[in-house]
Amino acid sequence: LSFHSCGLPPKLLLNLQTAGYEFPTPIQMQAIPVALTGKSMLVSAATGSGKTASFLLPIVSRSASFRSEHPSEQRSPLALVLAPTRELCVQVEHQAKILGKGLPFKTALVVGGDPMSGQLYRIQQGVELIIGTPGRLLGLLTKHAIQLDYVMTFVLDEVDCMLERGFRDQVMQIFRALSQPQVLLFSATLSREVEKVGGSLAKEMVSVSV
Ligand code: AMP
Repeated sequence: LSFHSCGLPPKLLLNLQTAGYEFPTPIQMQAIPVALTGKSMLVSAATGSGKTASFLLPIVSRSASFRSEHPSEQRSPLALVLAPTRELCVQVEHQAKILGKGLPFKTALVVGGDPMSGQLYRIQQGVELIIGTPGRLLGLLTKHAIQLDYVMTFVLDEVDCMLERGFRDQVMQIFRALSQPQVLLFSATLSREVEKVGGSLAKEMVSVSV
């Protein structure tokens, strides 16, 4: 199976070539075609499996087609990725920039340690994807009313780790600012807690594991 047969557009295939991603990893083969349809998913995947690209590629693809179909629409964020740590957010943004190169695809990083004003300004200039930690994102949301109602895809990366760090309530609060997005959950371990969170975020979830 190739990235082409996963249903990704030509411009993205070119970026994959440049990045040196020759073949999809097993998790990418399973997750990308499902995510492209807009369905919600619970994916059991460890670091190193290629999990990041398995949610970023469908996000880039769906965002690019949304922008070309709605050229006059205000540039509100179309996807939101929450991750437990600043370091992980930085890594996700790094991959997003590589994969979204040359496409209408801008990102904003919303993590502690940097001034909130710069992060807010960047979002107001127009971005497709926000990547952040739950605490800072919620801070920005409650203080400055950022527009999240166009968010089509909500990703929780390393959900198990987020629950361990006590982010559950903050995640649920952020989720309530969205309007019925596709939900993509990624977790190294699948506990009852993780499945419960999945159940409270989406009616139906496709389970993927390799
Ligand atoms: P992740 O599991 O998302 O943390 O990815 C692990 C590493 O694999 C990252 O450095 C990615 O850039 C790289 N990677 C992801 N998908 C592929 C692929 N299909 N081919 C080659 N490298 C990849």
